[in-house]
Amino acid sequence: MNRLLITNAHLLHPEDGTRTDPGWLEAADGRIAATGTGRPPAAGDGVRVVDAQGGTVLPGLIDAHVHLLVTSLDLRDVADWTPGYATVRALAEAGRMLRRGFTTVRDVGGADHGMARALAEGVPGPRLLHGGKALSQTGGHGDLRPLGDDALPCCEARPHFGRIADGVDAVRAAARDEFRKGARHLKVLLSGGVASPHDEIAAVQYSEDEIRAAVEEAENHNRYVTVHAYHPRAIDRALRAGVRCVEHGNLLDDATVALLVEKDAFLVPTLVAYEQTARLGAASGLPPASVGKLAEVRDRGLEALERAHRAGVNLVYGSDLLGPLHPAQLEEFTLRARVQPAADVLRSATTTAARLLGLEGEIGTLAPGAHADLLVVDGDPLADLTVLTRPEKHLRHVVKAGAPI
Ligand code: ZN
Ligand code: ZN
Repeated sequence: MNRLLITNAHLLHPEDGTRTDPGWLEAADGRIAATGTGRPPAAGDGVRVVDAQGGTVLPGLIDAHVHLLVTSLDLRDVADWTPGYATVRALAEAGRMLRRGFTTVRDVGGADHGMARALAEGVPGPRLLHGGKALSQTGGHGDLRPLGDDALPCCEARPHFGRIADGVDAVRAAARDEFRKGARHLKVLLSGGVASPHDEIAAVQYSEDEIRAAVEEAENHNRYVTVHAYHPRAIDRALRAGVRCVEHGNLLDDATVALLVEKDAFLVPTLVAYEQTARLGAASGLPPASVGKLAEVRDRGLEALERAHRAGVNLVYGSDLLGPLHPAQLEEFTLRARVQPAADVLRSATTTAARLLGLEGEIGTLAPGAHADLLVVDGDPLADLTVLTRPEKHLRHVVKAGAPI
């Protein structure tokens, strides 16, 4: 039996945003067995003891918007990659995500069941909830063909994150195919995007019938649909069709916020993606048309988050960093802390994210019975979120399934 005892640690419970007096946490066979304050239980034979030296233990972090397979934005270079090469690069990035403190990630475009299996079998990295390829209409956010390409749209777009499906029947077939391959959710692209050079941010993609078909297929499989969408026209239609989660949402207004609350839907803002892309500009590898579209969404992102926070929308942590931008994955904490208390930001990366993923009580909590996915840090994240955003300075241990990495 694999056993772990962490001593001399304050326990941070995101559920109620509290940090206990010094205490301890015991894990056995990958799960949290017991926690308490005061003197720890005696460590028996074969128990690994970690002295947290007065630091804090908190649940491992969850990033609900990653694209593991998009490790480059240089589309010409990516066209030369084999699936094997792309996967090796993706799993290397997964290892870096775990070392940043992310013990679970949800991939919303690209990652497949083989990658989830490799990670579950012990390849270093977070738990992976994959959604297969995102569904895009022809000319939509997932259609990255150059304008000179007149071939009929086929199958799968590069860089490995989307597939094209037009019409109700094709959407149903694509959804069924992704669920056949074990997708935990279905991602559908409903408005223009920054990374796709030929569509407007304010454009609406997919018809209402197609969205309803995707939702029905997801519900038939006991799964849910999450959508890429920026503006009320796209988001409202999605929510009315039964979509459960919205990615980005930078241009939402009060009426859309009210609809999110009414439907008990989830919103995954990804502010850091725009900040980092803008900072690097053309050097990020994005084409000029994309750099131009950034301004449309970047400035409104924080305002949208603040509106949603005030109204009590279910907010979940997401980074959406592509290619060379991945190292900034923790900086979303810094941006959100401008308009949200630290406890709320932490909940978005733990308990609320777990609820979205259908893993409430399993991850994102220190409750007994949950997976022992833990971080040991040397300060109090509730008082100062830089304790999380500077892992090289503050992160002492990452524990996945009861085993320190
Ligand atoms: Zn997106
Ligand atoms: Zn994305």
